[in-house]
Amino acid sequence: MSPSFNEISSLRCGLARALSALLAIVAVASATAAPPERGPNDDVPIIDAHNHDAVDSHFVEAMQLWDRYGVKKVVLFGNVSEPAAIETDGIALDAAREYPDRIVPFVAGVDIHSQAGLRYVRRMFAKGAKGVGEIVAMSEASPVVSKVAWKGRHLRDGKLPQLYDLCAEFGRPVLLHIDPPNDQLETVAPAFPRTVFIFGHGNAFNSPERLLQLLRATRNVYVDFFAGYTEFNGSSIFTLEDFVPVIQAYPDRFVLSSDSGYGVGYENALVAMRRLLNLLPREVAEKVAHRNMDRLIANRR
Ligand SMILES: [Zn+2]
Repeated sequence: MSPSFNEISSLRCGLARALSALLAIVAVASATAAPPERGPNDDVPIIDAHNHDAVDSHFVEAMQLWDRYGVKKVVLFGNVSEPAAIETDGIALDAAREYPDRIVPFVAGVDIHSQAGLRYVRRMFAKGAKGVGEIVAMSEASPVVSKVAWKGRHLRDGKLPQLYDLCAEFGRPVLLHIDPPNDQLETVAPAFPRTVFIFGHGNAFNSPERLLQLLRATRNVYVDFFAGYTEFNGSSIFTLEDFVPVIQAYPDRFVLSSDSGYGVGYENALVAMRRLLNLLPREVAEKVAHRNMDRLIANRR
């Protein structure tokens, strides 16, 4: 007799639970294994500007690693630009109530093709969301987010313009996923001068020269630097050192993130953040590590 669907799904859940318990053990083991690398800026606290750990409340177990790598605060959300994100947005808001000094909740369950999406954002701001994102403003190449239901096809698609205005009205940033690389943000951001745009994992698939061009052309775009991508993803053709000149040229316009280790592994993403900071002069490292992001999430309205 073949097992029923319920039997199979409960078996799957059991396996998933066992696997996640095993991963938690591995995470703890690795968190107590090799010490972090030593560098001059190891004591500079980090705000992780882009983290998906609301999924399955992963932040609870990740906190040990955050402590180990000096991540003092995390901008938290979960799924992005699809109905499933509404649940993880709720988890992020609850997490912020439980850990107000540690968690900065963003919301990503925004249907940008409906007025209801804008009403949702207003409600979430009233409940304490500090920003919006990660929003898939456009995606064609990403194997995961190119398939989400509420993605945009370009940076002015659907209600995106109204969303940018809403974020400006409340003084809260909007974190965008944009792929493939293109120059739309260079013209869209100046059209919304009061909106703070954070360019999600801006160093992924964009050269230092392209970032330089973007930063020159805009005043209200901040680059979320996913150091783990550059340091550990085989498809990166640049090194962390390659980005240092552009970061030094625009030290007030970079924030730092783990992207929860997407494609490179969680701990590697944290290692790479510390490596980048150790390549920068102290004052620049402090800005990129936490001062810039602190400024962007200061609740203005
Ligand atoms: Zn992400």
